Amino acid sequence: MRQKTYCHFCAHPLREKYAEGRMRLFCDRCNEPLYENPIPAACVILTNPQNQVLLVKRSVEPKKNLWCLPGGFMELGETPQQSAMRELREETGLRGRIERLLGTDSHSSAFYGTVTLICFLVRKYEGEPEPGDDACDLAFFAPDNLPEIAFAVHQKFIRDYYQSMMIS
Ligand SMILES: [Zn+2]
Repeated sequence: MRQKTYCHFCAHPLREKYAEGRMRLFCDRCNEPLYENPIPAACVILTNPQNQVLLVKRSVEPKKNLWCLPGGFMELGETPQQSAMRELREETGLRGRIERLLGTDSHSSAFYGTVTLICFLVRKYEGEPEPGDDACDLAFFAPDNLPEIAFAVHQKFIRDYYQSMMIS
């Protein structure tokens, strides 16, 4: 992961310092830690009437050419639901309606640090699926025939979803 080198308020070089309970990047000129937080991202489990899940093949790093759930980082001013539906539209061309929140989790990314994921279920959607931004292919997969998934946290959302279906 790329480290921040300078204070983004005053441009003074940052150093590591123990502050407020943990090691943090610290600006001696501002006399303040640089507070860093997880990055929120939204993703979607979209299933078709055969109960297969829609996955996209990544055309960008990290994990290029592996499959994952449609999704991405939230933009400023969006709700998690808006982010999820925007990413779905950008990556698959589909317009969906969120049925419910499936779960949230954290993921440690070598690229971005800690990512907080928010996963929604979509079973009503319209449009023809077509790979878009950051995706070079897409397909529906049965739960017993999944390809290699890029992110363990996505795999867990998928597994939890199908397990909950079997119980209910
Ligand atoms: Zn500063």
